[in-house]
Amino acid sequence: MAVVMAMEAEARPIVERIGAREVEGATPLPVRFFVARAGDCDVVIAVNGRDPRHGVDSIGTEAAALTTWEVIRRFAPELVISAGTAGGWQAKGACIGDVYVSSDVFVHHDRRIAIAGFDAYGVGRYPSADTTGLAESLGLKRGVVTTSNSLDESDDDRRMIAANGGDVKEMEAAAVAYVAELAGVPMFAVKAITDLVDHHTATAEQFTENLALASERLAEVLVRTIGFFAVSVGNGGPDA
Ligand code: SAH
Repeated sequence: MAVVMAMEAEARPIVERIGAREVEGATPLPVRFFVARAGDCDVVIAVNGRDPRHGVDSIGTEAAALTTWEVIRRFAPELVISAGTAGGWQAKGACIGDVYVSSDVFVHHDRRIAIAGFDAYGVGRYPSADTTGLAESLGLKRGVVTTSNSLDESDDDRRMIAANGGDVKEMEAAAVAYVAELAGVPMFAVKAITDLVDHHTATAEQFTENLALASERLAEVLVRTIGFFAVSVGNGGPDA
């Protein structure tokens, strides 16, 4: 399986926990690959890497799409997981450090194209693999993951998030889902909450404060997720 991640700080705890070792990229992309064997399952963690021009982690949808394409092309995974941090809503019962798995579909909340046909294309609605068994087994919340290329949200974004029933807000998953669907590979997301969108403290401040804690929680859940699928693959395939 392949785990696609945006930030080094998000990836470090899971890379360490499963003892993954880095393999050469052999690609012009800044992506970094870390591989490990978990039970009967090969795991590759693909991290978007540092933006060569700006020197920061390549967060957002372009890098996520390229990384997903590259990891599928090179490793032919049977399952892709978009893993990282995200915002949640107090009004929907989210707490800092909660880990959600994706349900139903992935949507974009910043692609507004008011032309027949293109409006739906903008939203995306790429399918999530069925995570009900995983969520029950690991005691995780489930929700619709909504993606944009901004950390904050405009009033238009808020309206679109409400219209599409978004529960978890981040900057990569819909792009990963788009590429996975094109490639015919089942995909879902695991997202740890760093910030509460409807809290009075600024999102960026909450994010910085909670990144380390959420990344540890994410790593714990990813280890158990890998275990869950390593077993169920042996039993005849993921619940996808
Ligand atoms: N200033 C930060 C940048 C993090 S951007 C830094 O360099 O340390 C936020 C990243 O976390 C993105 O990859 C995104 O997927 C995720 N994220 C966490 N909370 C988010 C939110 N409320 N909205 C959008 N993305 C969020």
